[in-house]
Amino acid sequence: MLRLTEIKIPLHHQDENAELRTAVLNKLGVADADVRHITVFKRGIDARKKMAIQLTYTLDIDVAKEAALLARFSKDPHVRPTPDTQYKFVAEAPAELSSRPIVVGLGPCGLFAGLLLAQMGFKPIILERGKAVRERTKDTFGFWRGQELNPESNVQYGEGGAGTFSDGKLYSQVKDPKHYGRKVLTEFVTAGAPEEIMYVSKPHIGTYKLVGVVEKMRASIIALGGEIRFNSRVEQLHITDEQLEGVTLNNGDYLACQHLILAIGHSARDTFQMLYDAGVYVEAKPFSVGFRIEHEQSMIDSCRWGPSAGHPILGAADYKLVHHCQNGRTVYSFCMCPGGTVVAAASETGGVVTNGMSQYSRHERNANSAIVVGIHPEQDYPGHPLAGIDLQRKLEQAAFKLGGEDYRAPAQLIGDFLKGQSSAELGEVQPSYTPGIKLTDLAGLLPDYATAAIREAIPAFEQQIRGFAKADGLLTAVETRTSSPICIKRGADFQSVNIKGLYPAGEGAGYAGGILSAAIDGIKVAEALALDMLSMQAKL
Ligand code: FAD
Repeated sequence: MLRLTEIKIPLHHQDENAELRTAVLNKLGVADADVRHITVFKRGIDARKKMAIQLTYTLDIDVAKEAALLARFSKDPHVRPTPDTQYKFVAEAPAELSSRPIVVGLGPCGLFAGLLLAQMGFKPIILERGKAVRERTKDTFGFWRGQELNPESNVQYGEGGAGTFSDGKLYSQVKDPKHYGRKVLTEFVTAGAPEEIMYVSKPHIGTYKLVGVVEKMRASIIALGGEIRFNSRVEQLHITDEQLEGVTLNNGDYLACQHLILAIGHSARDTFQMLYDAGVYVEAKPFSVGFRIEHEQSMIDSCRWGPSAGHPILGAADYKLVHHCQNGRTVYSFCMCPGGTVVAAASETGGVVTNGMSQYSRHERNANSAIVVGIHPEQDYPGHPLAGIDLQRKLEQAAFKLGGEDYRAPAQLIGDFLKGQSSAELGEVQPSYTPGIKLTDLAGLLPDYATAAIREAIPAFEQQIRGFAKADGLLTAVETRTSSPICIKRGADFQSVNIKGLYPAGEGAGYAGGILSAAIDGIKVAEALALDMLSMQAKL
């Protein structure tokens, strides 16, 4: 197979297959009969010229005289042999295992670590503090409709992890020379995700589809001999001579275990405290704080796509913005959700946290994104490895108070925020956040340097997206769970630097940010654990 990159056709075309075929024949200079099959590996959008948007393809071509073509195009970086991206298992468990590994947390990291271990025959036991995804969905949507927040079953906790009620964006900037990302996407498609996630350049699944995907993956793990226990919170680690020996759960059960993947996400503050108290080495790490910003999606679409806005291939447009401020801070957009809604993402009573989600169709009226300021332990929360958690909690509780102490989120019109005045009335942009918002003045909520930085950044972003600083756009507070405030340090063997058998993984441990990278980290850690189990087994 030959891989061709940078093959382009116009967005507005009649027949994609025919146009691609013509482009391939022109590129390779071969006869039509020589090209047996064309597979689209990736499709991107080049919208730099809005009047002439192009689709950019990476194609795999089954073609005659492949060796001769490779020789002819030896100096062309856009004609290469197709690389082997098939995932290969690194280990296979012996029929009789002396012990079973444990995975803590069933977010993307734990889900893929568990699946990989199950596929290699290690029969993992997966412990998840929250509920199975359907029950969890009832609790989460119930909270959004005004019911009580359940601190153990919400946006952050439960089967599927933090990304279950999300936009389901499946791209990341992690280096992936072993093509683990492809394995993740393949498993998602096997579990019912749309096939296009394999080839579009910015794939996403959307909330409702993700729920079904997660359930099917659970069934696969169980069919392979894995076990999943919900409502099972790990409350204590048992460590002897710096070796993990077992865990105790919230119901008092003790499970012996010398190999455990800790995939607990960035919101398990009680578990972070427990790890610290147990002597596991953790460090404070940078994260970001700020607001959710909402605009009408149609404005973002026309700015990004020009007259082609509304074209079905383009869908709802996204954006990615960064501004370096005069006070030395950096403000950036994060977790942008085209055609989505702002969601209540709290997991602790008495706190308000915002985030965003969307359906697969991305058909909601508004675009939303976090607009956040990077903060650092040395400068902003020094003195203790867990000090970032205290800062997050303080901001979330202040937002709760400002919102009226009933889980409405405090919000302000962009124009008022820039002028430094409280908001009293909405403009055209209608808030999507439920249980509701309270218009107010957000200026005192964040530290002064963060407020100043965001005030400088929004007009700067207007230079890239006309209308971004429009007065009736909406800011909703507060964004605090952008990434983990701590790093649970691990060594080259993927084990904690001071506790053998403990494998910190995913976003909570500081080794991933987002669904795809957390899933990839889960695979890497599962591989390392499997190899270590095999080497221990061999020594018995
Ligand atoms: P998590 O998904 O947080 O999973 C950790 C799991 O561990 C949880 O289920 C938790 O209940 C469990 N747990 C915690 N402590 C314990 C314990 N002591 N015992 C047992 N179980 C425990 N990322 C994207 O890439 N694209 C998006 O579109 C996107 N949208 C998002 C929208 C929202 C609303 C949110 C909240 C996040 C979004 N993210 C998105 C971020 C993404 O969800 C996370 O990066 C990802 O889920 C991290 O995966 P993880 O497995 O490391 O941790």
